[in-house]
Amino acid sequence: MASRRIEDLHPDLQPLCTAFLRQCHAAGMDPLITCTYRDGAEQDALYAQGRTRPGPRVTNARAGQSAHNFTLGGKPAARAFDVVPLINGKATWDAAHPHWQQMGRIGEQLGLNWYGRPTARFREFPHFELAKGGA
Ligand SMILES: [Zn+2]
Repeated sequence: MASRRIEDLHPDLQPLCTAFLRQCHAAGMDPLITCTYRDGAEQDALYAQGRTRPGPRVTNARAGQSAHNFTLGGKPAARAFDVVPLINGKATWDAAHPHWQQMGRIGEQLGLNWYGRPTARFREFPHFELAKGGA
């Protein structure tokens, strides 16, 4: 099972994630964290999707290559979290919904690397990652 726990994020990312959620709530949004840490087996299963298994391709990262797989001293310390906006309690995956852009702006203002930005190499709207160089 992928973790949704903020405690499974890198120590540098935990306060940024908390601030992100707080600011989204203050802006009238209701974001749901769908993934923080993901282990290698789960990453490989996700990689297989759209390749050797049905479904859309959702990642270019194999086990150990994703920021979600990062560990510190053998403990989960994901360098990224995935989030989806809830509208009336339901996850809204349509990237055209304005909440995605609003969430992206909040994340970027916190210094996070948002993969939904137009210049991202592989666009992945739910994905917010700790900028390189941060520990
Ligand atoms: Zn992600």
